[in-house]
Amino acid sequence: MPDTVKGAIKRGRATVEDVLEVGRTTVEDVLHVGRSTVEEVLHVGRNTVEEVIQVGRNTVESARRLGQGTMQAAVLHGREDIRIESVPVPQALPGELILRVGAALTCGTDLKVFRRGYHARMIVPPALFGHELAGTVVESGEGVEGFPNGSRVVALNSAPCGECYFCLRSQENLCDDLLFNNGAYAEFIRIPARIAAMNTIIVPDHVPLEHAALTEPLACAVHGFEDSNPHPGDTVAVIGGGPLGLMMAHVASLAGCEVISIVRHDGQVEAARQLGAAHVVKATSIRKAIAETRAFTPNDRGVDIAIEAVGLPEAWEEAVEMVRKGGTVNFFGGCATGTRVTLDTNRIHYSDITLRATFHHTPAICRRALDLIASGRFQAGAFITGRARLYELNRVFEKLMKRSTEIKTAIVP
Ligand SMILES: [Zn+2]
Ligand SMILES: [Zn+2]
Repeated sequence: MPDTVKGAIKRGRATVEDVLEVGRTTVEDVLHVGRSTVEEVLHVGRNTVEEVIQVGRNTVESARRLGQGTMQAAVLHGREDIRIESVPVPQALPGELILRVGAALTCGTDLKVFRRGYHARMIVPPALFGHELAGTVVESGEGVEGFPNGSRVVALNSAPCGECYFCLRSQENLCDDLLFNNGAYAEFIRIPARIAAMNTIIVPDHVPLEHAALTEPLACAVHGFEDSNPHPGDTVAVIGGGPLGLMMAHVASLAGCEVISIVRHDGQVEAARQLGAAHVVKATSIRKAIAETRAFTPNDRGVDIAIEAVGLPEAWEEAVEMVRKGGTVNFFGGCATGTRVTLDTNRIHYSDITLRATFHHTPAICRRALDLIASGRFQAGAFITGRARLYELNRVFEKLMKRSTEIKTAIVP
C-alpha cells in the first residue's frame, strides 16, 4: 500500500480517537455535573420534605393536645388496681417540658408498687404511674432552653435539689429533697422544672427511644457496680436474675469482671449467659447457691465482690457468706420497710469484709449510663423482651407477677 494511503488511514484513526476521547470526556463531565445537580436537588428536596413533615407533626401535635384536651393515662388507685383513664393533657408551666411518650418501660419497682399499692418515697395513689421513659418534646414552658420541639430526650424519674448537704458532696442520690416524677404510662407526660433543668438529656439520633428509656435502671446498676470497688478480672457474684440483676451482671462483664449469676428461674439462665455471665448458678437453696458459687473460685475462697439484687433478707445474708476475705458486699436490692437481717459479726470483722449499699443514681451517672447505651457495647435490645399498648398494661403486670421470661416490656402508648 502506498505510504500516502497508510498515512491517511493513520491520521484518520488518530483524529477519530481524539474525537472519541473528547466526546467521552465531555459526556463524563456532563454526567458528573448532572449527577451532582440531581443529588443536590434530592438533598435539598429531602430536607425540605423533612422540615415540612416536622412542622406538620408539631402542628398536628399541638392541635390534638389543644383540641382533645384529654389523653389516655394509667392511674394507680391501689393494690393491683391500675385503670386507664382519660385525664387532662398537661400544659407546660414555667420551666417545665411536656413530652409525647415514645416508650415507657416496665420495672421491678413498678411491679412492687403494683403489688403493694404504694411506694412511700416515690408514689402515693391515686397517681399517674410509670417512671422509665424517653420521648419527644412537644411543649416547653417559659424559660426552658436547649429543648426545641421535636427534641428526642430521656427525662429521668427524679432530680436532686442541688443545694443540700448531700448534693454539695456529690451524693445527690441521697438529697434531702429528691423530687420524683411518675406518669410515663401515658400519651404525654409533664416533666417538672427541676428535672427539665437537671436530669433531662438529649438522645443521640442513632439510639431508639425505647433503648434510651433504659437510662434510669442502667444508671442504678452502674452506680451500684462502681460503688463496689471493682477491678478488671475480679470475680463478681450477682444474686438475682430480675431486670436489675441481669443489668448488673452485664455491666460487670463489660467492665472485664468474671461474673457468676445466681438466678431462680430457667428463663433467667440463658439471659444471664447471653449478657456475659461466665457461670450461672440456678439456686434451689441458699446453702447450695453459696457452695456452688464458692466452687467457681480457687480453693473455694469466695468471690471478690457479691452484689445482692433481689431485695430479700435471706439474699442479703447469702451475699455475706459468698464473699472472700477482704471482699466487698453490696446490698443493692431494697427490702420491704422494717426488714431486719442477721449477720455473723465474727466473719465480717475477722475477714475484713466491706459492707456497702447503693441507692438510686446521680445526674452525672445518668449521663454516663446513656453514653454506655449509645456506645453500642451495652446490649440494650436484649432487655426489652416485649411490647404492648397502654390499654394492655394490667395484663402486662399480671404476666410479670407470674415471673415469665420477660425482662422489660416497652409500653408504646
Ligand atoms: Zn425503674
Ligand atoms: Zn439536695
